[in-house]
Parts: sequence; C-alpha cells; structure tokens
Amino acid sequence: MNEKERLSGYKGEALAAIRKAEVEIGDLIRITRNSEIHEGILIPRSEYGDKKHVIIKLKSGYNIGIRITPNTKIERTGKGTKPTFTQPPSLKQNPKLPKIAIISTGGTIASRVDYRTGAVRPALTASDLYSVVPELTKIAQLDAQILFSLLSENITPKHWTEMAKAVSNHILKGVDGVVIAHGTDTMGYTAAALTFSLQSLPVPVILVGSQRSADRPSSDAATNLIGAVVAAAKVPFAEVSVAMHESTSDSSIILHRGAKVRKCHTSRRDAFKSVNASSLARVQEQRIIMLTEKYRKRDLTRKLDLKPEFNEKVALVKFYPGMNPAIVDWYVKKEYRGIILEGTGLGHVGSFFYEAIRNAVEHNVVVGMTSQCIWGRVGMNVYGQGRDLLALGVIALEDMLPETATVKLMWIFGQTRDVEEAKTLLKTNVAGEISSRTLAEK
Ligand code: GLU
Repeated sequence: MNEKERLSGYKGEALAAIRKAEVEIGDLIRITRNSEIHEGILIPRSEYGDKKHVIIKLKSGYNIGIRITPNTKIERTGKGTKPTFTQPPSLKQNPKLPKIAIISTGGTIASRVDYRTGAVRPALTASDLYSVVPELTKIAQLDAQILFSLLSENITPKHWTEMAKAVSNHILKGVDGVVIAHGTDTMGYTAAALTFSLQSLPVPVILVGSQRSADRPSSDAATNLIGAVVAAAKVPFAEVSVAMHESTSDSSIILHRGAKVRKCHTSRRDAFKSVNASSLARVQEQRIIMLTEKYRKRDLTRKLDLKPEFNEKVALVKFYPGMNPAIVDWYVKKEYRGIILEGTGLGHVGSFFYEAIRNAVEHNVVVGMTSQCIWGRVGMNVYGQGRDLLALGVIALEDMLPETATVKLMWIFGQTRDVEEAKTLLKTNVAGEISSRTLAEK
C-alpha cells in the first residue's frame, strides 16, 4: 500500500495527527481528548471530508468522527488488518456458455466495498465478479474490462465515443452480448448515445447500474448484474437497453429501450422508467419474457455500423416563466450548432423568447422543441404560440425525451456539418427515439 492508501482521504490537521501517531487505515486506535476516550478502527475519509476530523469505526459497527484539537492524543492499540481486496482464484469458464463482455465504467455497481473499513475500489475482473456473484459462472463466460472508474456525472460525450469503440472491439472478437456497468445518474444519456452510435447491432448491449451499494442489505447490485448478464446471453433482440429493477421487489429485472428511458427517482431501485414506449422484455428467474414484438433480431452475421463521434456544441435549455432569453444569445455567440428547448406543455416558450430564437435560427443554429411534461408528445399546431415557433424555424420533436434529443443532436453534428441534413436527421426516427403514437397508459 502506498502512503495515499495508508492514510486514504485525510488532510490538514487530521492527516498531521495520524501521521504523528504513526497509525494507518485499518489500525485499532484510541483517541483521547480531555476526559473523552474513543476506541475503534481508523477508516478512510471521503475525498470531501474536512481537515479536522478523524473517522473511526466503533465496535458496535457505527462510524464516528472525532475532532482533532491540540490536546487530542491518538495511539495505536492494535495492528489491524489492512483493507483487503484479495484477488479471488481465477475460475474455470464453461466453454459451452455464451460469451459475454462486461465493460465497467464506474458507479455504484462497479465498486467493491471492504466491509470492515468501508474502503471502496473498482472491482470488475472476471474472477472478482464470479466471486461476488457466483451465479454468473452458470450463465456465461465473462470477459471483463475496466474502461473507466467514473461517477456517471463525470461522463462526457468523449466517454460515449470510447464506450462505443470498446463495444465494437468486443463484437469484433465475437461475443454474444455486451454488458456495460454504469453509474445510474446519467445512464439514460449514455444509453441514448450508444443507441445512436451502435447501429445495425448484431448482439444486445445491456447497460446496468445499481441504486444501493453492495454493502447494504437492500443492494440491487447483484440482482441487476445477474439480470443484465442473463439478458445479454439470452434475449432474442440486438438492441441497446437498460436493465434495472422493475419494481421495489427483487423478483424481476426490466429491459428498457436505450432511447426511451429515464431515471425518474433519486433512490428507489425501480428508478428507471420507459417513457412513451413499451419496455423490451422482463427477466424473471433467469428467463426472458418479451413485452414487444418490435425489435431488431440478434444475428451474429450482421455487421455493426459504428458511428461513435459526438459534437459537444449542442445545448439543452429548459424554459421557465420569466427566464432570461440571453442564455440563447450566449450559445449562439459561442458557436453552438444546436439547441434543444424543453418547452412547456405541447411545446411552448413565452413570446419574450421569440427574438432570441429568431436570431439563433438566422445564425444557422438548429433549434428543436421537446416538452418538459415528459409523457406525451409536442403538438405545435394546436395553439398560436406553437405555430409562431414553427414559423420561426423551430423543429417539433414529437415524443422524444429532451435528454435523448440533446444526445441525438450532438451525435448528428458528429456525423455531418450540413445544417439541412442535420434537421432532416433530427426529425427522422433513427434508433427508436420517436414512437409512432402516444401510449395511452401513462
Ligand atoms: N452518482 C453516481 C453515479 O451515477 C453514483 C451512484 C450510482 O452509481 O448510481 O455514478
């Protein structure tokens, strides 16, 4: 272990105190301050922890922070075992099972927690996975790759490009399916990005995340991962989809279409919902139950059409009452190529916004309209406001999710510089992002 790992996360006074006491993460320590005495295991600090507190895990299992003052004394009472992430033995793979690649990009699902100290590290070698989720040995032969170790809010279009290329490499090696482990926060955006950049897929690409980490009893990490690997091995379709809990119970995993899925809850295990589209399938007791007949069939002989480039000069602008339209002028000045508006209701913005939109369109910026209602589709011929916007050159984007429309326009300007071609592509259903009718049930 290097110094950073030994004193993981500590800085300032707290770091100085533990250095002075010559203790390390995992040691049993006693902290004495005036008449107070606390004993426990020194555990790592989060990177955002302050400089003044040392964190110990008490015998009871609870963690407490103790403020370091000039008269605080730290001493080691026992040499604890250090955080261990021992390499599990590599297991024999069953050559008769489908070959599945697992690409890890980070997030809760891709972390392994040392239960004693709370240290977290990415852990997705095939043998790690088999040891954490032994059921996987009976489902597939795994080829695991750690591509990034990122919280998904740090993922950018450049990472989508890398992911699309990594998937393509595995497909060229002849896998039967690909699973991508991803943080849930922006998994919907990545799913849309891969839907556009991996066209004519021969095998399924399944994104999977988890809402609760593996150290919590309510964790969904193992069930989601098993569901995703079962899906990659067995579904009849070759589409990009997101595999997560269907409800709060562990009984089924639902597969959402990549361009029609959204994270709709901050913490529930069934946070992801298909919007304006049916889900593709359900995984129950390792069996696949199809929920639609509309899909591209798996076909190992089909040649993947890889289009991995994105252009980041596209903005998503949410309208709200009284907002300042100067934000649109700013994007135009910064030479953005496209703006997706998240308008009200059927697709409106206040008339005080028109001038900024006119200016954007005159500067050849593509302006598309989606709705902040989420469910339903924009209808810009119903009210005068909508017709005014169409006359200004705004493109109505049917039932496309605002996030999907933004990703799509980034992808479009990764393919072409031609504004007319971009507008045509934006209106065309390229990868299932536009449903032909509004579903009635929501
Ligand atoms: N916010 C982080 C992410 O989206 C961690 C939570 C999670 O994995 O869902 O990556």
